[in-house]
Amino acid sequence: MIERKKTRQIRVGDVTVGGDAPVTVQSMTNTDTSDKDGTIAQIVELEAAGCEIVRVAVPDLAAASAIRGIREAISIPLIADIHFDWRLAVAAMENGAQGIRINPGNLGGAQKLAMVVDAAKIHGVPIRVGVNSGSIEKDLLKMHGYPTPENPAALIESALRNVNLLEEQGFTEIKISIKSSDVLTTIAGYRLLSARTDYPLHVGVTEAGGLIAGTVKSSVALGILFFDGIGDTFRVSLTRDPVEEVRVGFELLRALRIRERGPEMISCPTCGRTRIDLFPLAEAVERHLQKMQSRLKVAVMGCVVNGPGEAREADIGIAGGKGVGIIFKKGKIIRKVKEDELLAVFLQELDLMEKERLLDGKG
Ligand code: SF4
Repeated sequence: MIERKKTRQIRVGDVTVGGDAPVTVQSMTNTDTSDKDGTIAQIVELEAAGCEIVRVAVPDLAAASAIRGIREAISIPLIADIHFDWRLAVAAMENGAQGIRINPGNLGGAQKLAMVVDAAKIHGVPIRVGVNSGSIEKDLLKMHGYPTPENPAALIESALRNVNLLEEQGFTEIKISIKSSDVLTTIAGYRLLSARTDYPLHVGVTEAGGLIAGTVKSSVALGILFFDGIGDTFRVSLTRDPVEEVRVGFELLRALRIRERGPEMISCPTCGRTRIDLFPLAEAVERHLQKMQSRLKVAVMGCVVNGPGEAREADIGIAGGKGVGIIFKKGKIIRKVKEDELLAVFLQELDLMEKERLLDGKG
């Protein structure tokens, strides 16, 4: 079993991060934040997918001002992502941002940072110290070299230096991230950082790539870190609709049995025994499951010979035959349906099962 490292606890809006709080799934919008309606629409989709904390980029005052209206229309905590301009950080908090992500060292000096910290104290807002491989101070790079899996020290020293700047101002509502686009550097860096601090950690691989590459990189890095007990909140970064980030995030937690959300689907890869057009069927079932809440185990199998048996642990499943499909529950066949009616009938059965589960309070 995974034993999580006990970190300090902070609150982002009404979500607790760190300590024994559940590992939370975050995402970031890719709309223009000053387009209030577009940003709200995307956050509402993210909420429906289960996103628990959302971050928006705040590159200018128009974006900082839009935060007020966005906050009013959404129900998960909103974090403002700010670089360089302390005034934007203050404006974002005045407009209701429940967290800010900054790199304290690039806000233009101690006085400007003090203004940001004062605003954070007044508004009860935590600060994420976010350090990237590309943002490390020159003197640290000179001393430690560019971060590598063998020596990620520059990332850690930069993060801790920035944390120290906040602590000097009497501020400790902090979480930390040290992002690299390299999987091994990410793992080595967070392991080292976790040994040096007990602030909660926001983990992730930055600029991980598209759906396949990004999912693999994030799963490897975060899988290993979570298995080590490291990481309190995370974002899977993908060059895709951010809703996919949330879906991948929950699948990752499910794979490690850290958290579960919604149904789980198992499906076979098909083989020479398959006599049914399984791929579109599996895709349609998967799309349907995304709208469901209960923790059903659903199997979509290519053949009757192995289907129900291999998927015995599934609550409900389909297995293809020649021109027909069978529907089974807990390994037992309950119906045989013509292929062209199979999807519709199966989705009905699924909905029925979900309804029963929710009525029984099993979820
Ligand atoms: S379930 Fe049947 S069709 Fe699918 S891979 Fe196994 S043997 Fe092949």
